[in-house]
Amino acid sequence: MIWFVGAGPGAEDLITVRGKELLQSADMVIYAGSLVNPGLLKVCPEGCEIYNSARMTLEEVMEQMLRAERENKRIVRLHTGDPCLYGAIKEQMDILEREGIPYEVCPGVSSFCGAAAALGAEYTLPGISQSVVITRMAGRTPVPDKESIRSFAAHQATMVIFLSTGMLRELSEELIAGGYASDTPAAIVYKASWPEEKVCRCTVGNLAETAQENQIHKTALIVVGRILDGEYQRSELYHPAFSTEFREASCRREDVPDIRDRESKGKEQQDV
Ligand code: SAH
Repeated sequence: MIWFVGAGPGAEDLITVRGKELLQSADMVIYAGSLVNPGLLKVCPEGCEIYNSARMTLEEVMEQMLRAERENKRIVRLHTGDPCLYGAIKEQMDILEREGIPYEVCPGVSSFCGAAAALGAEYTLPGISQSVVITRMAGRTPVPDKESIRSFAAHQATMVIFLSTGMLRELSEELIAGGYASDTPAAIVYKASWPEEKVCRCTVGNLAETAQENQIHKTALIVVGRILDGEYQRSELYHPAFSTEFREASCRREDVPDIRDRESKGKEQQDV
């Protein structure tokens, strides 16, 4: 039995309880050493075999997994963030399937969630954006033409861009060509949740300069969109004039001053 486990974005205590328990009882762990915090491996039992997949091919990873499986070992394949994003797990699962070896996935906190936490951001704000585009620039791994940054930028939805810190000049050009104004708020979040985390707020137009000034060359996410700065509408769900399955509306919409607005709060107090 093989467990694909999401390690979370970096902080040792941002793995799930289930993920940690799987590590605690593992006989063998193969971890993606380029990004997974090795501190997570402290909980592995003594004698646990540990391999860093950063130096291995898929063939070598599978050879180790299949050998350990024959030896009836408890095997954890530890991927950064959540394995469903840029995790290269499908090719491993397909081989396991072919070999008749059962596997399961234990999800993790993706770095795009870690970045939102670092920014104190909500990616989906009413009146601004209700969608998040998770994508990357084409690098050595191609991106289908239909999924160009330019085409996604046309939606003006929140974007979180992975694996592109080395291509920020081109990224800016693509975002602007797609329709984002160059002064659209953006952020570079380096090593979200690690002790060395950096959060750099900037604009779509000066991503490359900002990364340069802050010496950020890899392990970062680029967040783009007006959710980072600006006006938005309050939620319907928590509006006093909105009924839900659990709560009846308590007043009319026009009677509710905006609690977020200092001026209207002042007015309300004056009115009283
Ligand atoms: N499965 C992972 C992503 C793997 S791809 C996840 O869910 O997060 C690797 C890319 O993820 C990096 O190049 C970087 O863009 C991003 N990344 C991973 N960890 C990060 C972190 N802690 N902070 C910022 N970006 C991170």
